[in-house]
Amino acid sequence: MSYVGPDFDPPQPRRSRRGPLTVAVAALVPGALAGWLVWQAVGNDSGDGGGSGKAGPQSSSSAPVSPSASASDNSKPRTSATPSPTPSTSRPAASGPLKGKVVVIDPGHNPGNFQHTSEISRQVDIGTNRKECDTTGTSTNAGYTEAQFTLDVAHRLRTILEQQGATVKFTQDGDRAWGPCVDERARIGNEAHADAVVSIHADGSAAGNRGFHVILPGSVHEGAADTRPIVTSSRDLGERIAGLFVRETGSAPSNYVGDGTGLVVRKDLGGLNLSTVPKVFIECGNMRDSKDAALLTSGAWRQKAARGISEGIVSFLRG
Ligand code: ZN
Repeated sequence: MSYVGPDFDPPQPRRSRRGPLTVAVAALVPGALAGWLVWQAVGNDSGDGGGSGKAGPQSSSSAPVSPSASASDNSKPRTSATPSPTPSTSRPAASGPLKGKVVVIDPGHNPGNFQHTSEISRQVDIGTNRKECDTTGTSTNAGYTEAQFTLDVAHRLRTILEQQGATVKFTQDGDRAWGPCVDERARIGNEAHADAVVSIHADGSAAGNRGFHVILPGSVHEGAADTRPIVTSSRDLGERIAGLFVRETGSAPSNYVGDGTGLVVRKDLGGLNLSTVPKVFIECGNMRDSKDAALLTSGAWRQKAARGISEGIVSFLRG
């Protein structure tokens, strides 16, 4: 089952099984290579099928990634038992390498969207187009929803970033009935004057399609959308996240979009088009593939995912 919504487009044939730039991502981070080779040895089982990305694969540049000091392995993410108003804001740590930095985490979808389909299907202006406010997101075949996944990874990510001194804001924390809409998600990052924004997702592509990809904003200038000032910085952020995600999780870049780079540029996502601050999406894996689903439903793996994303953010913010 493919997932079609404001974030995604109907599958199209993928162009190649794995492009020549496949190794580029792993090469960005020396430490990633071991994990990459392990994956090559045991996980090379891609099947044919459509990808969910619309934009054609883009090549990655060779911007260096400088891995930061590892975040501590805090396996106890903060729970949302006592939800705070949206957008929730953390108390900045007294010190740390990210002191003074603002990171907005955008957990994709919302667990309540399933009960508010009419609200989330209303159209909003994304500058280049009009699209649905939000979507329900996908789920594993066993029913673990993408909205649950994104919030869990977001909590883990927040814990790590706060430990390094960052001020962290969420676009939603399961503390509102539905949404927010994609335009509001972008606005929250903009109004926070975020130094970096990461939107967390997992894909709903065909079985056999595996791996993660980071979605970068394409250059658009239409209506309320003008990504020209953030294209370069967002690519830098995305490349660092991709490289460090490989290193921390051992997951391979997507085998169905991005030509093996783990990077895809899109111009159709409101959350990116309307951003005025560096922002990327990450699709951490494919919930509809059983092997990827086994990872996505593992708390230990989600902790690795959060660590990879956090280290990419830290690398970006520290230059
Ligand atoms: Zn999603």
